[in-house]
Amino acid sequence: ETPHTANFLRTIVQEDLKGGKRETIVTRFPPEPNGYLHIGHAKSICLNFGLAKEFGGRCHLRFDDTNPVKEETEYVESIKESVRWLGFSWGTHLYYASEYFEQLYQWAEHLILQGKAYVDDLTAEEIRAHRGTLTEAGKESPWRNRSPEENLDLFRRMRAGEFPDGAKVLRAKIDMASPNMNLRDPVMYRIIHASHPHVGDAWRIYPMYDYAHGQSDAIEGITHSICTLEFEDHKPLYEWFLDNLPVPNRPRQYEFARLNLTYAVMSKRKLLQLVKDGDVSGWDDPRMPTIMGIRRRGYTPEAVRNFCETIGVGRSDSWIDMSILEESVRQDLNERAPRVMAVLKPLRLVIEDYPEGEAEELTIPYHPQKPELGSRVVPFCSELFIEQDDFAEVPPKGFKRLSPGEEIRLRGAYIIKCVDVEKDAEGAVTAVRCTYDPETRSGLPGSERKVKGVIHWVSARHAETAKVRLYDRLFTDPNPSGDDWKDHLNPASMEILADCRLEPSLATAQAEDRFQFERQGYFCVDLKDSRPGAPVFNRTVTLRDSWTK
Ligand code: ATP
Ligand code: MG
Ligand code: MG
Repeated sequence: ETPHTANFLRTIVQEDLKGGKRETIVTRFPPEPNGYLHIGHAKSICLNFGLAKEFGGRCHLRFDDTNPVKEETEYVESIKESVRWLGFSWGTHLYYASEYFEQLYQWAEHLILQGKAYVDDLTAEEIRAHRGTLTEAGKESPWRNRSPEENLDLFRRMRAGEFPDGAKVLRAKIDMASPNMNLRDPVMYRIIHASHPHVGDAWRIYPMYDYAHGQSDAIEGITHSICTLEFEDHKPLYEWFLDNLPVPNRPRQYEFARLNLTYAVMSKRKLLQLVKDGDVSGWDDPRMPTIMGIRRRGYTPEAVRNFCETIGVGRSDSWIDMSILEESVRQDLNERAPRVMAVLKPLRLVIEDYPEGEAEELTIPYHPQKPELGSRVVPFCSELFIEQDDFAEVPPKGFKRLSPGEEIRLRGAYIIKCVDVEKDAEGAVTAVRCTYDPETRSGLPGSERKVKGVIHWVSARHAETAKVRLYDRLFTDPNPSGDDWKDHLNPASMEILADCRLEPSLATAQAEDRFQFERQGYFCVDLKDSRPGAPVFNRTVTLRDSWTK
């Protein structure tokens, strides 16, 4: 377990429970189903579900589906899957704000009868123009002083579908001169002739987020309603509705700083644009900062939860560097990922004095420090593959790999010496010819002999062929913003290697299994594209950070 980092909300909950202000804690995670969840949402999920778990309360999953137009069932399913994957459970507490529409409607009538809400015929533009500015009071609508009876009649006819979209709205009657713009008679309902993905054709009017949210919290008995800082200014409105309605419970809103991550975009609008424009293969493309994306990339839920705990929860906006997220998965996989050998860009290597047609089975442990991970059998024979990069006919200074006349150790096997090269008509090296020293097999006394380097390899006769996708950051700019944010897409965010050779133990790897390919990085079997006999691996992260130097 990671030691707890600063989290001021943990302190608030602790004190509320200790001081008897609350008997139990009830939180909620309220996504709008208009896209896949991203790593910023993970922070909110870990916070809300985490606090509930820690203090023996409960956390609701609530779909904030008040807007019928942008929402889709696919998103609902992906959101549930993301929360579950992160390791949290809502139990029986799955809710939809749309299921409160009738109650919200009744409460709106209540406000009308109290003279605290009115039907306004101004257009959206006129309402905006009447709103005033920070230094100048707003102007009252000419319809502001309709009688409760007239308002009730009009509101019921709005519900019945008598008026076209935009013809009227219901507004709370608060204060057009308030220094807080949110209190200048905010819109509560608008007319939208659209059916709703969850409640169908029941409604022609839909509540605004600000009216629906606090009342949904109250209906569910939420104690701590945790949201991001941009809602701080909405809090007086949140409280105004609760003060003026006969709600069964009194939730309280708390704000925390949202997560901003460098080299990524996190707004769902921008993520949707990447999907629509085909810049990525979908919301779950392994380069996307979505939870389903980083899952396919090979991240573990533990790494994401540790990351969220490490960055802490505060009240000042900050940027977290992508390298911190990457380091969290590197640390986790370093502990648990088996080490295996995979040659990504193969070069043939022939051992001239190894008996042709024979093979031996070497037993190599999966992890140098973790014997409990066991070992696997790796076949060795006279024909191998090594990385093209691990051979240089004319070695640069300090080259610690293979070159003519030089010796190198093959990981877990023998010391070999390069005695010749084969070339094609253009002079490119097509194979390396070597001899081997049989006394130096790992485990034999002769294996103590030191050579300048160790390289990985696979048996050409036994290897599995695989496709490997080398992923990198999606953007080259730490803060891709402005109208030209897409100009900063990293053209090298994906390199596909179609002819990689893997040690045969990987033939049985299952979707999402994670490995360290020795000297290359951490890789996982792709969840969607991998097939038995045609495996596809994704690079999760390199072994070292190559961005911050
Ligand atoms: P986006 O701007 O990406 O559309 P959103 O806030 O509109 O995000 P919601 O579906 O409403 O998305 O978010 C659900 C919850 O997740 C909210 O409580 C919100 O505060 C929280 N959340 C969203 N983005 C972040 C973030 N970057 N960091 C922390 N919490 C976030
Ligand atoms: Mg939102
Ligand atoms: Mg949004």
